[in-house]
Amino acid sequence: MLIEWIMKRIVIAIGGNAILNPAKGSPVEQQRMIDETCAEIAEIVRKGYEVILTHGNGPQIGNILAMQEECGLVHPQPLDVCGAQTQGMLGYMLQQSLCNRLKERGIEKQVLTVLTQVVVDESCPSFKNPTKPIGLYYPESRARKMMGQGIRMIRDKKGYRRVVPSPEPIQIVEEAVIGKLIEEGVILIAAGGGGIPVILKHDLLTGIEGVVDKDLTGSLLASTLGAGIFLILTDVEKAALNYGKENQVDLDVITVSEARRYIREGHFGKGSMEPKVLAAVRFIMSGGKIAIISSLDKAIPALEGSAGTRVVA
Ligand code: ADP
Ligand code: MG
Repeated sequence: MLIEWIMKRIVIAIGGNAILNPAKGSPVEQQRMIDETCAEIAEIVRKGYEVILTHGNGPQIGNILAMQEECGLVHPQPLDVCGAQTQGMLGYMLQQSLCNRLKERGIEKQVLTVLTQVVVDESCPSFKNPTKPIGLYYPESRARKMMGQGIRMIRDKKGYRRVVPSPEPIQIVEEAVIGKLIEEGVILIAAGGGGIPVILKHDLLTGIEGVVDKDLTGSLLASTLGAGIFLILTDVEKAALNYGKENQVDLDVITVSEARRYIREGHFGKGSMEPKVLAAVRFIMSGGKIAIISSLDKAIPALEGSAGTRVVA
């Protein structure tokens, strides 16, 4: 009975790139992608799962920064405030669409977006050495100017990109009220964009500039809420060894110790697949039952065990 109950609570993390990339299309196209995503989530709700949804915000926060930079007329907002904006924007779109998709299926459930803060540690090394690339690519001349203004940037194949701290998520500030709302039967959209990073000083909260990894926060959310399943939906169906090479091997079921070994061996992209596998490992290590990485279109087969990569104890 308990196991059955635990297995019904599921945290689903959806990718900011794969499913919600505003750079890929017009607002109409964007709405279509959101609707497709929410139709899939509604099907999962219909199967009787207690769903908590979380999402990435990489492209969206990048766009907000670009708007601030290009405009030049208004004072730029700090990153935590930009992160809050993306939670509101994406939360609104998902909340409305998911409500509609549920109604179409005759399911009367309330959907609510929770503006969520996540506590991080000011002494986390990522604040001194930011590594998370976000936003637009800039040509060298522009990048040099930005770096002259103190903006940290890195160069890769496509050009220069801003890098920001991506601190470890430690605790979800709103965890108690999120728990209560779930018990009330509300479907929640929470900890969007990895949560708004905040630090605790003398027991008071203050925002800090950074973007927390949404997979790691999703994992923390799932274990904090006692979910049985943590489902990460991205744009590939499985995590793979030797990814993109001739000898690529897609992974079906792996244990935590295998996952750790593959991480050490460098099989997963830093900042893309690696945090997903790590998030899955952490979830299982803190008592979760099943962690799955899959693509949106394979969400239901993945839950049924016939698609995706599963990480188990
Ligand atoms: P999301 O927006 O869903 O977080 P990411 O781009 O961060 O998506 O991560 C998914 C990407 O990870 C895939 O598109 C794929 O290109 C990349 N990736 C890197 N290493 C691997 C791997 N070993 N197996 C599968 N995908 C990988
Ligand atoms: Mg990602």
